[in-house]
Amino acid sequence: MPAEPLDVVIVGSGVAGQSSAIYAARADLDPLVLTGDEPGGQLTLTTGVENYLGFPDGVGGHELVRRGREQAESFGALFEHASVVDADLDGRPFRLTLSNGETIRTHAVILATGASARTLCVPGEDELMGYGLSTCATCDGAFHRDHDVLVVGGGDAAMEEALFLTKFADSVTVVHRREELRASEILARRATENDDIEFRWNAELAEIHGSPSEGVTSVTLVSHPDGHPSRRRDDGDERVEVEQLDVQGVFYGIGHEPNTDFLVDTPLDLDDRGYVRTDPRTTATAVDGVFAAGDVADSRYQQAITAAGTGSMAALDAEAYLDELTHEPELLA
Ligand code: NAP
Repeated sequence: MPAEPLDVVIVGSGVAGQSSAIYAARADLDPLVLTGDEPGGQLTLTTGVENYLGFPDGVGGHELVRRGREQAESFGALFEHASVVDADLDGRPFRLTLSNGETIRTHAVILATGASARTLCVPGEDELMGYGLSTCATCDGAFHRDHDVLVVGGGDAAMEEALFLTKFADSVTVVHRREELRASEILARRATENDDIEFRWNAELAEIHGSPSEGVTSVTLVSHPDGHPSRRRDDGDERVEVEQLDVQGVFYGIGHEPNTDFLVDTPLDLDDRGYVRTDPRTTATAVDGVFAAGDVADSRYQQAITAAGTGSMAALDAEAYLDELTHEPELLA
């Protein structure tokens, strides 16, 4: 463990963490960025980013995070490949236990751990994840050249996945549990007007068939004219229809869960879905000296540009907090 506590540790290295790191490093706070298990965060799972300010022709997700890290490092931010497994936020300085066994002490923490893909918990899911079942079309789409594939979900992520998969797959079927998409108008229009994408409305994935050696071979779908068929099937509704569909790939695009498991036993305030609650006007959390930025504290917008914005806010808030601490040196002990 370093003898002296650090000024600020940034937990997470997606856009929010990188933006915090740039601001904190330029403020001479010598930030340490813990990259987490998915360095670069969710943008590394996406192809083109068309709505990030300053890139009129779009920019690749990998490219954007590569540049962000380079920019942060150019101002002196340090990146370490580790995750936090335990956070002691009761005393001062804070103590973070890392996945590599190290313990670090820090006066301020910026949480930027983002969110991870949600799953459905249907039969076949555990066995076939990574063997034809994926939560990332941009990572695994190319394995499905000339295959028939299924995409689950009705939001922007599902539409983006479906559109991307048309480059490889023979057929792309989107299964959505209602008959109205949640996706933004532009992506919904692109997907519904694409002749290579078929929609199964009011339908849900009930089971995935196959094996790790042969991959996904087919799925069981349930449907009901009024939507939400799984729930209705569980209630014994006899109008639920069951259908088998031959597909060789299944992609989930059903949203995300915040990465806050390591925070449940801390004094932080988490909402009922596990997102970190912050002051509505700042990035301050329920614990003085701990700030939160990006998707881990944002179940609503979840955009790269908003994550970058709140990342910069968190660093400015941390800087102001550390300034105050220097006037109360007993708190630094
Ligand atoms: P989302 O907007 O929360 O959409 C999740 C979709 O999955 C919804 O259609 C939801 O159905 C469905 N779903 C959730 N749980 C389900 C379950 N158990 N069974 C079946 N279906 C289920 O999530 P997202 O698409 O990942 O997007 C998250 C945020 O990122 C959004 O703000 C989005 O705009 C943004 N985003 C933007 C872009 C872009 O602009 N290029 C790309 C990706 C994501 P219901 O509609 O019935 O709830």
